[in-house]
Amino acid sequence: MDIQEKLSILADAAKYDASCASSGSKGTRAGSRLGSTEGMGICHSYTPDGRCVSLLKILLTNYCIYDCQYCVNRVTSETRRARFTVDEIVRLTIEFYQRNYIEGLFLSSGIIQNPDYTMEQLALVAKSLRVEHQFGGYIHLKSIPGASENLLEEAGRWADRLSVNIELPTPADLQALAPEKKPPEITDAMDAIKQRLDQYQSDRQAGFKVARFAPAGQSTQMIVGATATPDLEILKTASGLYNQQKLRRVYYSAYSPIPHADARLPGMSPPLVREHRLYQADWLMRFYGFGSSELVAESDGNLSLEIDPKLAWALAHREMFPIDVNRAEREMLLRIPGIGARNVDRILRLRRHHAIRVSDLKKLRVAWNRTASFVQTIDHNPALKQLDAQGLKDRFKPREKQLLLFDTGQSALDGEF
Ligand code: SF4
Repeated sequence: MDIQEKLSILADAAKYDASCASSGSKGTRAGSRLGSTEGMGICHSYTPDGRCVSLLKILLTNYCIYDCQYCVNRVTSETRRARFTVDEIVRLTIEFYQRNYIEGLFLSSGIIQNPDYTMEQLALVAKSLRVEHQFGGYIHLKSIPGASENLLEEAGRWADRLSVNIELPTPADLQALAPEKKPPEITDAMDAIKQRLDQYQSDRQAGFKVARFAPAGQSTQMIVGATATPDLEILKTASGLYNQQKLRRVYYSAYSPIPHADARLPGMSPPLVREHRLYQADWLMRFYGFGSSELVAESDGNLSLEIDPKLAWALAHREMFPIDVNRAEREMLLRIPGIGARNVDRILRLRRHHAIRVSDLKKLRVAWNRTASFVQTIDHNPALKQLDAQGLKDRFKPREKQLLLFDTGQSALDGEF
């Protein structure tokens, strides 16, 4: 099989992994001759199915000894298989970089022979790029749960980011669909990476010259909608990962149906808006001080698909509104729908000089249509009647649109499928 054919198989197989976005590192490596992450850093864009187009995103191989039911690469799947050699990946990365197609490499793999062997191969690719080719571009390596700590350390030495996929939101989900994956092995790998990151940071702060270790931190991916587990459990798992393993990001990836799938798996993907709501809720947990349990207002444990989680929280806690922007603490200002964290800081600065009016908020471009019912200024106090109104939620629902009778008609016009 030639390298082009391998590329088409192994780049396609990698598209199911959404955990490759990153902020990149701030500077390029000392002594690099090739590749830079300086200046604007690495800019990522995504195709609609989650592929990150500025990294060469491939698998070392889609052979795998495991049989995770949600995965197209599982051992029992009848998919076409291929495997790159270490040298082939190195060559492809350099060639793509030189043609300006990519800014770095995202490399994952099915598990071959055993976790240690697979991890060693992944680390060898990164080492060869860094040492033999002085490649300074971005490298994200998928870490294999169960691999030895020495190999994780070696991988972190050459990669900018490491990730270990949690895969499914709860141990029970994993037990049902991927019994060979052991939750403790996954969290142990994350812990090992975290400990080295902490060590690296504290040694640097103490003024020691230390070898780099995954400066862009670690991330993970969770598949959503493969099981019936509701958003509340998903967010609790994510919150635990942020608090205990100090992950930079949790990526949520809507389950995509695969050929000849197990009967327990759904026949279709969950609505993409669910993934979007989870990202919004995740953002609120990380930057707005919301707890995972607070964010889910629906009785079935899922986020509302109609309105965003912050607005849903406000509607479920109307007794706390309107919030007076001239007096409230930062934590409360952050809970006002339509006002973002940056505007909260601007409001805090502004109100030191004068009392805030509606015109000030509008100048700050807050989303006034969402904010008006929840905020109090010296010239605006939404009537309690308005906050108590039964139909308030309906005002925020997206307007209904006429659907096309024939979807393909629009596709034919705009070329999008
Ligand atoms: S270990 Fe990874 S590649 Fe292998 S079947 Fe499971 S999810 Fe797929």
